[in-house]
Amino acid sequence: MNTVADPLRAPVATRLPVADDFPILARPVHGRRLVYLDNGATTQKPTAVIEAEARFYRESNANIHRGVHWLSQHATELYDAARATVQRFIGAARADEIIFTRGTTEAINLVANTWGRKQLTAGDEILITTLEHHSNIVPWQMLCEQTGAVLKVAPVNEIGEVELDGFDALLSPRTRLVAITHISNALGTVNPVAEMVAHAHAVGAVVLVDGAQAVAHQAVDMQALGCDFYAFSGHKLYGPTGIGVLYGRAELLADMPPWQGGGDMIRTVSFERSTYAEAPQRFEAGTPNIAGAVALGAAIDYVQALGMDRIVAHEHALLEHATAALSAIPGLRMIGTAAHKAGILSFMIEHIHPHDLGTILDSEGVAIRAGHHCAMPLMTRFGIPGTARASLAVYNDDTDIAALVTAIEKAQTLFGTRKKP
Ligand code: PLP
Repeated sequence: MNTVADPLRAPVATRLPVADDFPILARPVHGRRLVYLDNGATTQKPTAVIEAEARFYRESNANIHRGVHWLSQHATELYDAARATVQRFIGAARADEIIFTRGTTEAINLVANTWGRKQLTAGDEILITTLEHHSNIVPWQMLCEQTGAVLKVAPVNEIGEVELDGFDALLSPRTRLVAITHISNALGTVNPVAEMVAHAHAVGAVVLVDGAQAVAHQAVDMQALGCDFYAFSGHKLYGPTGIGVLYGRAELLADMPPWQGGGDMIRTVSFERSTYAEAPQRFEAGTPNIAGAVALGAAIDYVQALGMDRIVAHEHALLEHATAALSAIPGLRMIGTAAHKAGILSFMIEHIHPHDLGTILDSEGVAIRAGHHCAMPLMTRFGIPGTARASLAVYNDDTDIAALVTAIEKAQTLFGTRKKP
């Protein structure tokens, strides 16, 4: 970790001049400048995305796939173009490997209810890690209840890393599915996913990666990762809520039964029997979030125009700066100090409950998250009820970190626990 002489003086690399792209950042909160550090929960939206969604409703709105009229065909083209944009963004081999869902949670549940119900039987094993978000735990527990499969959990070490030895020790020919997060939302740990995928494949397991925290913060390539399924949410990628993606390898999708039945997912319907469309339509029953998909395409265009290399460099520099600045506060304990981390800082302040801290920071205009971050088993692993979490995005800079530090010091002053560094 870098230590800087003055923890509040940051190198220039901690600034990307994009704040003006995000209109919400100009609105004050409690009469203060909004310092938005809750990006792990959801990111703010650039004007380009807000406009893309509004423009769709203004100029292109119609239902897709069903109309012979021009507007329906136009809307269908925009929806298909968004799918192709996602395909290129994550390096999928084919556009029909991209299924639009409501988000990461629905994508994971889709795999559990289709691939999982068809493939798993009693005694089969599903391997996850201690780092997982509830979305990548509970669907598998439900699947285990339905099939008799057994859930195994790879441990994390004191600094919040999944060690490959511990992971490998739980892989066996009984392991049918490995479901792992790419980046931990609670600690920021970046898992060595490509290696984990290779090890899981070596025992014949299928691998699902939860990419909810990854796609906005590093380049993600399905061919390089080699995984079988990859799930993410648009709203953590500067896109709208209610739209997300399940990537699935074509061979697996071809063999998966549908989950939800209804319009658009069928080939033929009679009262005796229905037959189903190919992927991805087979998994997109009903009218999808067309405007959301189009706006997600605009969000990806925005990220790509900014450049993933610049985003990674910026967030890395800001993480180092923020880590040094926070670590200099007496009474602050960082939870999760993995060697390979993304822009998430989870911490506890001596004698101040994370919820109290979050409330005081809010009164200063600083938005962070406090609690278990939908990762209760991980909190249990560290013997804590929860943490305070600051999570970074492209528009954050060193002035946000300075505001965070000042607000934490104010909380310590209010609690009478402030110590001189
Ligand atoms: N997985 C991880 C790692 C997350 O951080 C989140 C959301 O915080 C999810 C899954 C669930 O995402 P969503 O609520 O968008 O479905």
